[in-house]
Parts: sequence; structure tokens; C-alpha cells
Amino acid sequence: MPRLAIEPPPVVSLPIVGTDARFPVRRVYCVGRNYAAHTVEMGGDPNRDAPFFFQKNPDNLDPSGVFPYPSGSSDVHHEAELAVMLESGGVTIPVDRALDHVYGYALALDMTRRDLQGEQKSLRRPWEIGKAFERSAPVGPVYPAAKIGHPVSGRIALSVNGKIRQDGDLGQMIWKVPEMISYLSEYFELAGGDVILSGTPSGVAAVERGDVMELKVTGFAALEVRVV
Ligand code: MN
Repeated sequence: MPRLAIEPPPVVSLPIVGTDARFPVRRVYCVGRNYAAHTVEMGGDPNRDAPFFFQKNPDNLDPSGVFPYPSGSSDVHHEAELAVMLESGGVTIPVDRALDHVYGYALALDMTRRDLQGEQKSLRRPWEIGKAFERSAPVGPVYPAAKIGHPVSGRIALSVNGKIRQDGDLGQMIWKVPEMISYLSEYFELAGGDVILSGTPSGVAAVERGDVMELKVTGFAALEVRVV
């Protein structure tokens, strides 16, 4: 171990269902426009626009159940997503081997400063200010694939204060989980600890302080997150 000049930052880790061991996070990849109806609501063409990737920071993942309304924005949106946790990685991973690298799955919210993201889009600038801010990815506990298998369909629904906002099905993903892993591995060296947020169905909308978001996906305990 090298001698470090300052205190090292803590390892980000997430709780795992059924064990007190935790899942350590290395990188966070997010796929945009992976459900056709959401592509349309964001002004894209689902027949032409391929999904694409951006990143959040590991310490943006937050299992606390509390989402502090971020600075610098007055239009913060929820995006309900299934997160995929890798236990191993590599490069040029074939689609038919991709699921071998999956440790498990969790529910996640890709919280977005939509006003700032929109400004960045119109200026052809990168999206970090809209996407990669503090605690921008509330997340539930990790469900090991060894226990639940690999979900390929099932309702994904997000309500705010009890009213349904987003209501889709995991089977509507344009790029399936193995295709995402394979694609990413053509451009990045994936590794255990990497997390992939797999995109959101339509119905993204703004939250306010005091709102309670509830994300439900078939087979998972509901993820409840309070905006403060
Ligand atoms: Mn998203």
C-alpha cells in the first residue's frame, strides 16, 4: 500500500438482501432513451435514436431513502430504473456470456436536474451538471441474481404521493441487459463493482420538497424515497 498524503475517500457500498456483506461500487454507467415511449417524450425518434451512455459518480448512489432537493435547479425529475450490479467484467464480452458477469439487481432513481440538462443539451455540452450531482441516484438494496434470477419482464412503476407517474414493463427495454453489458465492454473495461442504470419508461416529471416517491418493480420490495 502506498503512503497516502490525505485521508482516502470511503469505499461506496450498498446493502445486499439476505447478507450483511455489502456490494462495493466502482463505476456507474447510465443508459439514456432505452424505452421507446420515453424517447418520444424527450423529443427523440425511437426508430432512429440508439440508446447512449453517460455516467454518474459512485458516491451519487444513496441507499438512505432521503433525496435532498439539489441546488441550482427548479425542475428536478424522477427517472425510475432497474440497476444492474456486476461481479466481474472484461472487454468485448459477447451478449450470450454477459449475464455471467451480473451479481444482482436493485431499484434506482436517476434523479435529473432537467432544466440544467436541457441547457447543456442545447449548448452541446456534457450532462454532468444535470445528472451527476450529490445523492442523485437513490437506490434500494441489491438482490443477488443467485436468488432472484435475471428479470427480463415485469411491471416497473413509480408513484409520487400515491399517484402513478411512470408505468412500464422491463420487457420494453430497447437494449436488453446483456446487450448493454456487451456494448459497454466494447468501449470500456468493465469490472466487478460496476453498476448500470438501464433507462426509464415514460412519465418522467418534477418533484417538490415533501413528495414521497415510491418505485415498484415486480419481484422487489418497494423503494420509498422522500424529497427534502
Ligand atoms: Mn435515466
